[in-house]
Amino acid sequence: MGQAKKYVYTYGDGQAEGNTSMKNLLGGKGANLAEMNLIGIPVPPGFTITTEACTKFNQVGKEVLIELLRKQVEGGVALVEKIMGSKFGDSKNPCLLSVRSGARVSMPGMMDTVLNLGLNDEAVEGIARRSGKPRFAWDSYRRFVQMYGDVVMGLKPENKEDEDPFEVIIHKIKKEKGVENDTDLNTEDLKEMVKRFRALILAKTGREFPTDPWDQLWGSVLAVFQSWNNDRAKVYRNLNGIPEEWGTAVNVQAMVYGNLDDNSATGVAFTRDAGTGEDIFNGEFLINAQGEDVVAGIRTPQEISLEGSRRWARLANVSEEVRKAKYPSLEEVMPKPFYELCEAETKLENHYRDMQDLEFTIQDGKLWLLQTRSGKRTGAAMVRMAMEMLSEGMIDERTALLRVDPHRLDELLHPVFVGDALDSHKEITKGLPASPGAATGQIVFFADEAEEWVENGKDVILVRTETSPEDLRGMSVAKGILTARGGMTSHAAVVARGMGKCCVSGAGSIHVDYYARKMVVDGVEYAEGEWISLNGSTGKVYKGKVATEEPKLSGDFGRLMDLADEYAQLKVRTNADTPEEAIIAHDFGAQGIGLCRTEHMFFEGNRIVAVREMILADNLAGRRKALDKLLPMQRSDFEQLLEEMHDMPVTIRLLDPPLHEFVPHTNEAQQQMAEDMGVSVHKIKEKVEELAEFNPMLGHRGCRLGITYHEITEMQTRAIIEAALNVKRKGVHCIPEIMVPLIMTAREFREQADVIRRTAEKVFAEQRDRTKYHVGTMIEVPRAALTADYIAHDAEFFSFGTNDLTQMTFGFSRDDAGKFLPIYIEKGLVDGDPFAHLDQRGVGQLVKMAAEKGRSVKPNLPLGVCGEHGGDPKSIEFVHQAGLDYVSCSPYRVPIARLSAAQAAIKYSLVEELV
Ligand code: PEP
Ligand code: MG
Repeated sequence: MGQAKKYVYTYGDGQAEGNTSMKNLLGGKGANLAEMNLIGIPVPPGFTITTEACTKFNQVGKEVLIELLRKQVEGGVALVEKIMGSKFGDSKNPCLLSVRSGARVSMPGMMDTVLNLGLNDEAVEGIARRSGKPRFAWDSYRRFVQMYGDVVMGLKPENKEDEDPFEVIIHKIKKEKGVENDTDLNTEDLKEMVKRFRALILAKTGREFPTDPWDQLWGSVLAVFQSWNNDRAKVYRNLNGIPEEWGTAVNVQAMVYGNLDDNSATGVAFTRDAGTGEDIFNGEFLINAQGEDVVAGIRTPQEISLEGSRRWARLANVSEEVRKAKYPSLEEVMPKPFYELCEAETKLENHYRDMQDLEFTIQDGKLWLLQTRSGKRTGAAMVRMAMEMLSEGMIDERTALLRVDPHRLDELLHPVFVGDALDSHKEITKGLPASPGAATGQIVFFADEAEEWVENGKDVILVRTETSPEDLRGMSVAKGILTARGGMTSHAAVVARGMGKCCVSGAGSIHVDYYARKMVVDGVEYAEGEWISLNGSTGKVYKGKVATEEPKLSGDFGRLMDLADEYAQLKVRTNADTPEEAIIAHDFGAQGIGLCRTEHMFFEGNRIVAVREMILADNLAGRRKALDKLLPMQRSDFEQLLEEMHDMPVTIRLLDPPLHEFVPHTNEAQQQMAEDMGVSVHKIKEKVEELAEFNPMLGHRGCRLGITYHEITEMQTRAIIEAALNVKRKGVHCIPEIMVPLIMTAREFREQADVIRRTAEKVFAEQRDRTKYHVGTMIEVPRAALTADYIAHDAEFFSFGTNDLTQMTFGFSRDDAGKFLPIYIEKGLVDGDPFAHLDQRGVGQLVKMAAEKGRSVKPNLPLGVCGEHGGDPKSIEFVHQAGLDYVSCSPYRVPIARLSAAQAAIKYSLVEELV
């Protein structure tokens, strides 16, 4: 027979069988408890039952598991007894244990804990005699019965309105005794409490509370394993993408008591400030208390350091006298353990080379550490800590770059809600977090009215069933945008991200009643003018006005970005349609424009009139006349863009959307248009009908417009080339890139490229001057990806339009997928939203194939991505691997993309070093 599998790893007295590298097997808590022993931090002895035992438990059930573990667990308990000099289950000198869960990654409050295990009617007397503190002994006993009853025997409130059944008894006894606080109850009261708790357990479960310590231990260990599958833990796992197979470990450890007397305490501490990242040791503690008292919030915890305590008092408006008398710091009341704690925190932070979140207990003046882990922190703290630890020489450049989660940079770039202002506001509904930031304003349902309200000095949130290009100006003045329909790449989402404007899209429970000027959410009405607030980072919508503030960007942020550029191989450009967006993106470090959607310029000022004139024209001459009006406006826009980006590349895409998007659809607006244009409403209606398509996304759009109306391509090319020549005279040497959208065949591209080149030559001849320019194409139709080698013969660059490529590869509409995609995601039928994260297995293969085919013809063919995936960290990693040259994303995503590009390069170089 082979050796039995090892399921139990012990630690204590400076020795440990595990270490910090064994997190998968021992869980984060177990691995770090072992490690702390090895580096000389005082930790109560104990042992960890592995995550493999949890998996085994799910396979074989409890009886078989106990037999597999019995000998090893008995060995673990024996070691604890030896080190503590006490005996488990003994009535004179009992050894008491704590049992806690601990998965690979921390899942705060998701699973269960049992403290003071080993107590029964005899052991409690032993503890009372040895400590000389009977009240303490009985307080520990009543806590144990309560926790065991809750965690192991399942005595929870029956309905969500009910109070905890144990708390009901505590209240009753306090009432009978006429006291207010738990601490006012005496030993006899606590004895009575234990009696009533046990009677409650028997009455509710039909089972006695177990008095045999071994039964208690096995019951608790199995309850922790079971808690891996409780509802809370499942929800947390789903939200955080933690696989079910990981399982949890169980940590069994000797008890130490923060509630022994006034020379004892318990608390939590952070080696740096988790909110700001400042390098100050901080935390809270309570004298004469056990861990759960700090979390429960019944007593006001005190600050650890004197400096922190004074700062707290100032903020809480507490005078120095009151602070000193009622809320002194640990530094003042227990200086020796305080200094030991300072030593431990320095040692731990230096050892783990990261900010640590610690739990400690002081028993009769002696300090014990119960846990250390990397502390959770805000985006701002993440950046500051990474850069300061780098300057301190604690971590290297690669580690500093990998320490910052690119998604969290969002928090630094957009307005934020002030402090905990959100807590007091009701959540109305939730949609997609389409564009991050915080916004608060009054509800307005129409874009033109949004403009009027803003002109009158009001803050508005534009609420629409969905938005269209017509709403652009209203969107740009609104504080935030809320839509009932549309996904992450819907019009509202794309435009809002470009503007850096907060947007929640696809909030399906909202019904907008434009006539009644109200929205209805789950039967509740919200009228025009009511205040609501949006959190674009979570998709949550709140009732009422919530205070917001501008984020503060520190010097660390700039340094982090510069460092990222040193490591990144991918360049980061921006999708910018206006000079304002180009300026923001430039400030955020964009290295050019990867996509300028020229149609967005058509809605500025009174240009829409000229656009509509072109659409209404019955013949070529009429269209040319209208286009001539647009030419100077487009030219001046392009000049501004080129000047802003100076010598960096600027890719300008020719007109892409179906013309039908430029004409109004309501009677009222059509009437207005008829008046503006001096034609009959009938004519307008006729045109609108003529332009209507069954599938506009697959209809007359993209280069199909330029192919049917050469004059559009000619006007846009002229505007671009003339702009380039004008800025050249001012000393700006840019090479504009003219991009043809939505091509399917090489011949189609050649047709448009010919028009572009002919027009450019014409302008050069007219002006007797030349400038360099490139003509390339978007690859966004699967057929174009499949035939990329043919297209590459003529195209000077490719830019992957992964929005359309995703839409057309999956065969579902990017604007309608919101109806069913969430169900697909929930059922696991797709790996997340393919419009947010590039579908590497499907769409990604088309990108790779097209890149290879393109470069088989032109080895240096410039390749980029300009779909929304260009700003998504996971997709950027893929783009890096595929060997493309750049990604292009909305201005506010530029820093996220720069960091992601660096991280991709670092991760890949690390992998290469390994092989
Ligand atoms: C795309 O399809 O990925 C793209 C960038 O173009 P648009 O989103 O304008 O269709
Ligand atoms: Mg497209």
